[in-house]
Amino acid sequence: MRSLLRLLGSTRQLTPYYVGILLSSVLITATALSVPFIIKAATDRIVEVVGSGGHTGADVRAILWLAVALLAVDLTNTLVSNVGGYWGDLAAARMRRILSSRYYEKLLALPQRYFDTELTGTIINRLSRNIAETTQFLNAFANNFLPTLMTTLAVLVISAWYSWPLALLLITIFPLYLWLTALTSTRWQKLEGEKNTQYDIAGGRFAEVIGQIKVVKSFGREESELRAFDERYARTIRTTHHQSRYWHGMDALRRGALNVVFFGVYAIIFVQTVRHVFSVGEMVLLIQLVNLARQPVTMMSYLIDSAQRAIAGSKDYWTVMEEVPEQVALEAPRSGGAADGSPMAAPSGSAPVPPDVPAVEFVDARFGYVEDPDVLQDVDLTIRQGERVALVGESGGGKTTLISLLLGLYRLREGELRVLGQDTQRMSLAELRSRFGVVFQDASLFSGTVRENIAYGHPEATDAEVEAVARRANAHAFIQRFEDGYETVVGERGLKLSGGQKQRIAIARALLKDAPILVLDEATSALDTRSERAVQAGLAELMEGRTSIIIAHRLSTISTVDRIITLKDGRIDEVGTPAELSRTGGLYAQLLELQESGEAAHRKRL
Ligand code: ADP
Ligand code: MG
Repeated sequence: MRSLLRLLGSTRQLTPYYVGILLSSVLITATALSVPFIIKAATDRIVEVVGSGGHTGADVRAILWLAVALLAVDLTNTLVSNVGGYWGDLAAARMRRILSSRYYEKLLALPQRYFDTELTGTIINRLSRNIAETTQFLNAFANNFLPTLMTTLAVLVISAWYSWPLALLLITIFPLYLWLTALTSTRWQKLEGEKNTQYDIAGGRFAEVIGQIKVVKSFGREESELRAFDERYARTIRTTHHQSRYWHGMDALRRGALNVVFFGVYAIIFVQTVRHVFSVGEMVLLIQLVNLARQPVTMMSYLIDSAQRAIAGSKDYWTVMEEVPEQVALEAPRSGGAADGSPMAAPSGSAPVPPDVPAVEFVDARFGYVEDPDVLQDVDLTIRQGERVALVGESGGGKTTLISLLLGLYRLREGELRVLGQDTQRMSLAELRSRFGVVFQDASLFSGTVRENIAYGHPEATDAEVEAVARRANAHAFIQRFEDGYETVVGERGLKLSGGQKQRIAIARALLKDAPILVLDEATSALDTRSERAVQAGLAELMEGRTSIIIAHRLSTISTVDRIITLKDGRIDEVGTPAELSRTGGLYAQLLELQESGEAAHRKRL
């Protein structure tokens, strides 16, 4: 409940809507309550006229006027309900927008670690459920529950005027209802949580399967994926079975108790009328009032159900909202909107760095994804500005991890990392990341056009700029051959392109960012040798004088770098120029020999 109130409190900007909804609820209540009084007046008049044995024209007119009053009241009620409903819908839509954006903002600011452990589908599933259930409840509350609740309260007051035992009896309903509900709530919430966990797991797998449908198809796993999915839902049925049986059992109890209370109420009204304590008109009035009070009470079952879902949803919402965002440096300059160090923070203007300051400096760095083992240890590495360095090592040696650390995707466990002379612990992440142009190992693109993808880091780039970087990445030629050229839509994650095409667009994207340090993580691994050479030639010119860190699969393509660093089991193994290292007979020389003999054998076979 607290989480739900907190959610309302956090949407203060919707106050005008809340006030509007409140006002319309008051009007709806007032009009709904007028009806019994008009009917009472009519009944009194009719009883009188019928009792007198004759009637006058004035009697008929008076009765008709009362009917007109009923019409007026009903029309007002209709109008106000709909206006209120409209406000309710708008408030819910706005709330949905506010909560969704906040949730998204929060997610975007969460550390890489969060996304390493949570499945995409799960995250999305949770977002839509939490927010849908909260806003749906608030909408139902505004449209249905609030007016009826007010009506019930008014009925209590009015019935107290006529008969206090009656009012007292009616009043017992509320504590009884709430008590019975509170009794069931904890267990219900627990089962709801279990169910949602299953939905989230199923949703996570679902998104993964659809995203990698090719693998599923080629391994013929459609049926087993479907079965696993269905099994998750089967579990939710078991939980729903318990949850619903429990809920409806308690609801029957609640409403049964209520039926007994209403029996007492009706009995009092009937008996008191027979005893001439109430007139027939008053009896008609009271019966209508009591019926008005019945309505919200039955609606309450539905509402409590929906409220409990909303409470579960809002709790989940706050759990995500309270996740710790990516750590921002304590003394980081907080430029506009960077309150939590979100990646959207604008980089602060950077002063030119003296050329003798190293571009990258790892000092005694140690890192592991989990408590144990360390993936990188004793990393001491200095890369000068303008230097071109290649990272070499066997797969799993920690090359990509080193890049992730540079980008501040993870924090060092020990040691220091300085980028262009600044301690990364004292920089905002946005600032840090503005120093790098990166091509990741899995050159992921977005589902837009080629142009949009290249301009991703620099959307205001001109067509000429986009084309220039595409040429350098050796991508212009193949883009030109597409029917729509730069406007070609690449499909989800770029799936309509070949691996090599994707990589070249990713290289162009990194080049356009024009950051001081260029990082290529196996950026040309999916290219054939000829294209790779062409890309490298384009890059060589670009890397001239620019700090570049390259991880290359084919060692022949990095023979021109200034220095090679080999990583072995998470430690720096060798450092030297390509020529030096090929002579020492270490890891680099071994890998080189393996590749060269492989290539030679390949050539021989041809
Ligand atoms: P390389 O790029 O040199 O092939 P990586 O840096 O990708 O190697 O991986 C180094 C080690 O860290 C591997 O043993 C890998 O299993 C592990 N690793 C990589 N990424 C993660 C991650 N997100 N969570 C946990 N372990 C990881
Ligand atoms: Mg790697």
